[in-house]
Amino acid sequence: MADRERNIAYLPVAQGQAALHFSARLGSQEPPLPGQLGLKLQAVRLEDEGATAPPVSQEFQLNPTGANVIMISIDTLRADRLGCYGHEKPTTPYLDELAGDSVLFEQCMAQSPWTKPSMASLLTSQLPYSHGVLDFADVLPESAVTLADLLNEAGYETMAVWTNGLLGQEFGIPQGFRKTLLLGNHLTADAVFKRANLLLSRRDPQRPFFLHVHLLDPHMPYNPPSSFRKKMYKAYGIDQSPWPEGLDLKTHQQLQQRVQSAFLKDEKPSLTGSEEASLKALYDGEIAFTDKCVGDFVQRLKKYGLYENSFIVVVSDHGEELLEHRGLGHLQTLHPELIRVPLLIKYPGNKNGGQRVASPVQHIDILPTLVDHLGLPLAPTLEGQPIDLKSPSQRPIFFSVQAGPDAIEAGQQDHSYLEYAQGLRVGDWVTTRRLAGTVARQPLALYNLAQDPEQENNLFFQEPVRALHLQARLKKHFDPLLKQTSREKLKIDRSGLEKNLRTLQYL
Ligand SMILES: [Zn+2]
Repeated sequence: MADRERNIAYLPVAQGQAALHFSARLGSQEPPLPGQLGLKLQAVRLEDEGATAPPVSQEFQLNPTGANVIMISIDTLRADRLGCYGHEKPTTPYLDELAGDSVLFEQCMAQSPWTKPSMASLLTSQLPYSHGVLDFADVLPESAVTLADLLNEAGYETMAVWTNGLLGQEFGIPQGFRKTLLLGNHLTADAVFKRANLLLSRRDPQRPFFLHVHLLDPHMPYNPPSSFRKKMYKAYGIDQSPWPEGLDLKTHQQLQQRVQSAFLKDEKPSLTGSEEASLKALYDGEIAFTDKCVGDFVQRLKKYGLYENSFIVVVSDHGEELLEHRGLGHLQTLHPELIRVPLLIKYPGNKNGGQRVASPVQHIDILPTLVDHLGLPLAPTLEGQPIDLKSPSQRPIFFSVQAGPDAIEAGQQDHSYLEYAQGLRVGDWVTTRRLAGTVARQPLALYNLAQDPEQENNLFFQEPVRALHLQARLKKHFDPLLKQTSREKLKIDRSGLEKNLRTLQYL
């Protein structure tokens, strides 16, 4: 591949300001295409409040040459909170409608229970120990081949509009996109989509595009707009919540500290029933708000003829624990509330719309599935496989977490986020092992998801033969990787990392 030249323009993320990064590959092996950003850099000025999408004109036209790819990743969205995944609260009417035109994957497994390794896996189709993004300061190396890289090669216009400071340019994760808007963590889904619409309106109508939107709303603190908060309090039958105005950052932090402190003492969480119900209602309120924004965006795509001929992928990077295993938040375990994520793929022409796939698939399969359908070659670096809807793969699925030391170095005090564990799923069986981390968790586990989908009953000692067999497979896969993985660390501006971690409540 041609060398990449980066950082043509970069404004650092700051409160109240959108960061704008244009990257372009200007190597000699790749002649610039007409309309390529590298040739006509233009300043896109975005105001923090009320950046209005310009009037849409003939620029929005169905591209006859290739299917567009639109990926919407929603941070911290667990699968079982969507109506189309069986949730009984009215969280996702718009995503449920989109699911009618999509293939719904009931068992999509994230490669890791937190943002950085998961997003790197999603975008490279590599497992965390292959791409090397394991902890907070790890950087995705420039040699990584991302979905944006592959689609650039195929002539796509590639655009990203992301919130989440852990996905910043300094961590290498948005690499490959020719246009990248990295927004402050405070921006909500409506504001993010405004910017996505702006990019769409300024795209080159002669080329297919890849647009990736990353939303952060369900991430803590849970503070949905009042109408969504009230709707969910009502749905949960809550007349008097301890947080009538939602959770602010400080209150949410205190709540999490209470839960963590109880956990570390091996006690039950000390939340009242009202607190627990309100917490779940507020989380659902964030999802309902996000769902409405996705619905508005999809409506706009339909209006301007960009729906029919596009892939639309809706996925999450990981889930969220709401006290199922006595924790709150994410990163801390490999249980289903964190590892099982929603995945909808709307194919061009709405092919196979409404189909549900029960076999397990994984984050790393998404990229090969898209690339394969577009008729592009599968890069040798890909570790996932195209999903065959007629004959789903029964491959083992590996997932892991090895995070914490960077956060501790940046100032985290209580070590609650130190977690070092690996998991393997084969069919309905899951085994995990923990090499380090919070003392109160079990070091070895075996679960049967068919009988125990929430992973409440550890069968390790009831089924020792199966457990040891699966542990041997897990060990055979992971042990060589633990020694070989090369990791590129950010030459850390600790204050920047600390600021990001603080905003996202990791400190
Ligand atoms: Zn995340």
